[in-house]
Amino acid sequence: MILTVTMNPSIDMAYSIEDLKENTVNRVSEVRKTAGGKGLNVSRVIKMMGRRIVATGALGGNFGAFIEEQLDKEKINHAFIHIKQETRNSIAILHDGGKQTEILEAGPVLTAQDVFRFLENYKELLSEADVVTISGSLPQGIESDFYAKLSSLAKQKKIKVMLDSSGESLKQTLLNKDKPYLIKPNQEEISELLNIKLNGKENSEILIKYMSNKIFQDVAWIVVSLGAAGAIAKHNNSFYRVKIPKIHVENPVGSGDATLAGLAIAISEGKDDEETLKTAMTLGMLNTMEKQTGCVNKKLFSKYFGKISVTKL
Ligand code: ADP
Repeated sequence: MILTVTMNPSIDMAYSIEDLKENTVNRVSEVRKTAGGKGLNVSRVIKMMGRRIVATGALGGNFGAFIEEQLDKEKINHAFIHIKQETRNSIAILHDGGKQTEILEAGPVLTAQDVFRFLENYKELLSEADVVTISGSLPQGIESDFYAKLSSLAKQKKIKVMLDSSGESLKQTLLNKDKPYLIKPNQEEISELLNIKLNGKENSEILIKYMSNKIFQDVAWIVVSLGAAGAIAKHNNSFYRVKIPKIHVENPVGSGDATLAGLAIAISEGKDDEETLKTAMTLGMLNTMEKQTGCVNKKLFSKYFGKISVTKL
């Protein structure tokens, strides 16, 4: 099975308010509440594609219980540890013809005891996992080398770790002795990491140079997703450019998570490089075509899979 890790999940609330006014009351008729956090989007897409998945992380309070209920409704297996503090809410207000204003809580502060219990639970879950995905930000109270620790524990059991994170926790994991098997930075994350700006139109030499950066040494797969421009990727000594067709986008939020779900599915099934990259891009695209975040229509999979090109650089 695929194990997904979401350390700081949230209830994602989406409010549609056509004409948002400041400093007064705004009433809202349409509210959507979903089990959120990047790792839960990954989980949903894997489940929608009919693969075995267990979601783990830390949940607390009534909001945590709501997330577990949602996961049960969606028949997603879960094994979260329960913490004393309340799980957070993340609010997105969709307003004024396409604007999105977000209010994100930092979330609970995990105690040393919470971390200990999570690690014990994680080690147990690893015994049944083929691959592990780790997504999103770290909650407060956890050191920035925590994902590096999760990578090491999985590596000791020869389980592949796929990491979608940013900032200090990504850097720390890359500097660790036991590297993740795969990382999936987007345009912004790679720019921050390497201090560059990518748009997908760069020539092969430049792309190869960027992906050969010392910081990626011993990371088997680097998949840099570039939104509508597709992706560039490196697997061991092979470099690829992946091009995708133009499509109608409903909601691009969560596309990177759907991409990671595709990578986890393909790699856990031992697919070759071309099929792996096509699976990842197809699920990223299918996610953009749905209103709900972290959601894909499986029936459209082969149609879009066939429209993607993978070129070796
Ligand atoms: P993230 O959501 O992490 O920022 P990206 O925006 O790079 O990640 O999107 C991941 C993948 O989703 C892309 O590589 C692509 O396959 C698909 N995707 C995202 N945005 C678009 C878009 N506007 N048109 C077509 N496909 C898209």
